[in-house]
Amino acid sequence: MKAARFVEYRIPPSLDVTDAPKPRSPRGAEVLIRSVGGVCHSDLHIIRGEWKGFSDNLVRPYTLGHELAGWIEEAGEAAEEAGFKKGDPVVGSGGWGCGACELCQKGNEQICALYRLNNVPGLSTNPEWQGSYAEYVLVPTYIGLVNLKGTGIEPEKAAPLSDAALTPYHAIKSAKKLVDLGPGTYVVVRGIGGLGHFAVQLAKAITQSTVIAITSTEEKVDVIRKLGADHVILEGKGVNIVEEVKKITKERMADLVLEFWVTDERIAEDFRLVRPYLGVLIPVGLGYETTSIKYMTFSDGLAERHILGSYWGTAREVAEIIGLVKAGKVTLDYVKTYPLEKINDVILKLHEKRLWIEDKAFRISVK
Ligand SMILES: [Zn+2]
Ligand SMILES: [Zn+2]
Repeated sequence: MKAARFVEYRIPPSLDVTDAPKPRSPRGAEVLIRSVGGVCHSDLHIIRGEWKGFSDNLVRPYTLGHELAGWIEEAGEAAEEAGFKKGDPVVGSGGWGCGACELCQKGNEQICALYRLNNVPGLSTNPEWQGSYAEYVLVPTYIGLVNLKGTGIEPEKAAPLSDAALTPYHAIKSAKKLVDLGPGTYVVVRGIGGLGHFAVQLAKAITQSTVIAITSTEEKVDVIRKLGADHVILEGKGVNIVEEVKKITKERMADLVLEFWVTDERIAEDFRLVRPYLGVLIPVGLGYETTSIKYMTFSDGLAERHILGSYWGTAREVAEIIGLVKAGKVTLDYVKTYPLEKINDVILKLHEKRLWIEDKAFRISVK
């Protein structure tokens, strides 16, 4: 079968589109899917050699692609008993957990204690679990899947729900456990791309906060307003983000700040956007392996300011987002699909930050 494989570190980034062995038949809880892969910026970090602590351990050639959807080609016996049948459209998540450990049983399959077994398709050092940039992808358990049958949502559009929408959704839900996002509160979304464009919509959908989006791309401003942002700050030369947020929030500052492009410099600035009392900063984007957060001061501690880690999300949460899509609160209009053979064009556009300008899309799926 055809697959887009990580062979070596490259700048500009590209994969080898080549023949790869078709995955074996699924056993037990496993499911074999005719694949649609969402092209995620994390894979650019890997190909460009920015996460070598992790990616040096991948057995190359390795098929990347952790954002996935598709149609079931064959289901293992246990998966079939759980209702996953040949031909069903499905979408993945980050919840490839065992289902049985303490973390899984409390609904945290994305950080399963047995996750160390490393069974994530497209992000696994075990070559058994290749990713979704291929005609077929084998997934380790139906626990991480949501059946799309009856939703009217096509896998081509759904693939980004498994990461680009899920990751910010999980982050906002985690923040809500710490901070009230009711009337009179503010959420800042900084960095409007694949994840950020969903974050704006999700913040509008599941909080009562005023949403302030921050982008450095002027061409995106109108569409960000259309996605529901109450305010858009265009950052660039001479714009003081802290002062802008102070003005909009009348000095309150943001109850929640979601950052999607994580660097040391940006995070330092982001933390100054956070409301001093109980406010939360979540670096949602994964940034660089060397990124560290060391900005908590004495007064931040006294005011109970939070910095919160957040990672991916579960199948249950994908099902919740599907509800929001069906209710018209989240649009998949800015997801576009290309043939798998074109993946290197997509990767190059992402690398050169041309995707929005050329495609008017925030996320691309390939099949
Ligand atoms: Zn991703
Ligand atoms: Zn587990």
